[in-house]
Amino acid sequence: MFDILVIGSINADLVFISDIRPKAGETVMGKDFKVLPGGKGANQAIAAARLGKKVGFIGCVGNDDNGKKLIENLRGNNVETQYIQIVDDVPTGVANIVVAEEDNSIIVIPGANYSISKDMIDKNMDILLNSKLILLQNEIPMEVIEHIIDLCFGKDIKVILNPAPAVKLKESIVNKIDYLTPNEHECKIAFGNPNTDGLLTKYPNKLIVTVGDKGVLYHDGNKKVNIPAFKVDVVDTTGAGDSFNGAFAVAIVEGNSLYESLLFANKAAAISVTKIGAQEGMPYLEDLKGL
Ligand code: ATP
Repeated sequence: MFDILVIGSINADLVFISDIRPKAGETVMGKDFKVLPGGKGANQAIAAARLGKKVGFIGCVGNDDNGKKLIENLRGNNVETQYIQIVDDVPTGVANIVVAEEDNSIIVIPGANYSISKDMIDKNMDILLNSKLILLQNEIPMEVIEHIIDLCFGKDIKVILNPAPAVKLKESIVNKIDYLTPNEHECKIAFGNPNTDGLLTKYPNKLIVTVGDKGVLYHDGNKKVNIPAFKVDVVDTTGAGDSFNGAFAVAIVEGNSLYESLLFANKAAAISVTKIGAQEGMPYLEDLKGL
């Protein structure tokens, strides 16, 4: 039914831009404010849809303005939204992002994203089992993530887990996933082990560690491989990981080798960092020709 089914988060990013970050108990005057569409699930779904795949989404929003606008935004990006549930009495997920003093600080309220339940997955079992690839992140309840992975295991469905934000993962779950795509920091937390090289060797052709402007690392069964990042003029790296994951899912579902798929993901992510905002810079297929 879908090339790629994303089961994940939908957030409104409330971005406060300020010269100074307020200390506890302090009020400061800021410079600018924007509401941008976000959530790792929504971002990755849009990244994949822009690259031409048939993408479906299972998730939840609240019965509020943010929810309506965010569904509209997904639909406008060719993501199938009919399986998104609108839930009462819980707000749509929001991220309060303060951009100040050359760094960001973020508070995420998961809101409706935590209303996704095992029951909701079971009710959508047909869609799940008829999709070619399931793309997951850690912004929905872990028990739901584990349930989905259990349901897909042993079937002809690829599963990618982008374990962000990082939490420790059960080994039994890692063993059932096709690809795990943490950044270096998330990798340490996911495995409770700081030895990235050792982990890459332990999980060849499965563990893919993104390393920002250094590209990506994996182990091909014989040796450690580093595919360097493309050199671009960086404007804003927000959403680089989401762009990478959406594009990686696209290349895998097309049947490309792991190496080729990571090269493609590196390319899409590099283009995304040349523009401001998480979704704004996510490339369409034709944008990749230039790099
Ligand atoms: P974020 O949280 O900012 O979305 P992340 O920490 O999940 O990102 P990174 O490892 O920083 O993920 O970046 C993901 C991928 O994006 C990298 O593997 C690389 O392909 C691309 N990328 C990131 N930064 C750059 C850069 N400065 N130049 C080119 N490509 C980049």
